[in-house]
Amino acid sequence: MTDGTAMRNGPALIGRIEAWAVRHRDKLAWVHVAMFLAFMGLMVVPLLLPDPADGATVADNFTLFANFVIWGVWFPLVFVSVIFTGRSWCGVFCPMGACSEWANRAGLKRPVPKWVRWEGTPIVSFVVITVLAQTVDARDFPQGAAVVFGLALACAIVLGFAYGQGGNKRPWCRHMCPIGLMLGVFSRIGAVQFAAKQPRPGGDAYAEKGVCPTMIDIGRKTESRHCIECFRCVNPAARGGLTLVARRPGDEVAHIRRHNPNAAEVWFLFLATGLALGGFLWLTLPQYQILRRTVGDWAINHGWYWIGMPGPWWLMSIHHAGREVYTWLDFFTISAFMLACAGLLTAILALLTALSGRLAGRLGADLDHRKRFVEHAYAYMPVAMVSLVIGLGDKLFTMLTVLGLPHGAPAVAKATLFALGVAWSVVLGHRLLGGEGLRGAKRWLALAPLVIGIAAIGFAWSAAIFQV
Ligand code: SF4
Ligand code: SF4
Repeated sequence: MTDGTAMRNGPALIGRIEAWAVRHRDKLAWVHVAMFLAFMGLMVVPLLLPDPADGATVADNFTLFANFVIWGVWFPLVFVSVIFTGRSWCGVFCPMGACSEWANRAGLKRPVPKWVRWEGTPIVSFVVITVLAQTVDARDFPQGAAVVFGLALACAIVLGFAYGQGGNKRPWCRHMCPIGLMLGVFSRIGAVQFAAKQPRPGGDAYAEKGVCPTMIDIGRKTESRHCIECFRCVNPAARGGLTLVARRPGDEVAHIRRHNPNAAEVWFLFLATGLALGGFLWLTLPQYQILRRTVGDWAINHGWYWIGMPGPWWLMSIHHAGREVYTWLDFFTISAFMLACAGLLTAILALLTALSGRLAGRLGADLDHRKRFVEHAYAYMPVAMVSLVIGLGDKLFTMLTVLGLPHGAPAVAKATLFALGVAWSVVLGHRLLGGEGLRGAKRWLALAPLVIGIAAIGFAWSAAIFQV
């Protein structure tokens, strides 16, 4: 490696962490069992309890406590952890991934089929789960959380049981898990990676047989995305295998051309940012109410009275006591509104990225237009990441006031985080264009459309950031 991504085994600390992790690798099963029990407790116990009374708090009500642990602590912190420790959540803690692998051990071990391996599969899975999380209101009701996480757990077990040769494979984690997709893409900006001690040429490859649970051909590994940091390919005493490497956060993205850039990832970045935005905006924008009223009137005028009826509990939020009962009209309009936001933001960002690519080409940048488009789109990664943290993990911020901080503290925390994401995106864009051979004013000129795109994301999120 010649770029800064795998240049060193870091300070002695990294070596000690690696040795410690390898020494205790056999105890991971106990961590998984403990996490599975905790997961089941957080999911199932609130279903058996009465609804929280008015005035109940996280300190005196288990349902509210479980909700806060999932959405206020686990979700945002797992996200932020990828910057420091990559996909360590997946390899060390996640009970769903562990269940998938246990199922694989006992399962059919069939080759992973093409439809599962298709690059768009995790994006479809992400869209379905994110929209479903809104329509069942997973963030406010334990029944909704149980639907979303229960579905993910069931799919992880079924996929692990059916596919993946070797008895240690996690096809769900590599190909379909929406959380794994997010963590994997964002782990590219992380401060650690596993690098081959004796890399083989040819670029990343798929290896359905071998030690890696996520089917990485370890000798040819250059990208962080699919590595769940299980340490199984690491042996400090051996000359081969992988080793834990410290790196400057963002380096893999700044040199993305050497790390298997992928068009599906950039479409995911665009869509996920728009979808998270849609999940917030339908609650606040009057346009959503206009859409709902228009569709409702049209349906009634055409005799579609069923649209005003509640549907099944596993598709939409039905909570009479909680005073939230969604109808088919809510289900369709929420889904459509979120998908429209995702489509609109994707179109805007794709246009601006294409413009940046064209400009860069005219100004003398290397690569063809398609490759430049993909490369430039990676600049949005930090701002997309903070969008998802703010949009889907806002309970963490609202807790700041509960901890005694001033009323405006959540807005200040969100704005600070967002500003950091924006600045990091601009710096990444600047570095990517430098890698294409642009210097001085030409580099800034080609960067301008990306800066507009980054600013557009910030503008769209401003209501969420300053909402207290
Ligand atoms: S990919 Fe999903 S199921 Fe697999 S370990 Fe990660 S979060 Fe868990
Ligand atoms: S590359 Fe190594 S550490 Fe990463 S998931 Fe595969 S076996 Fe585990």
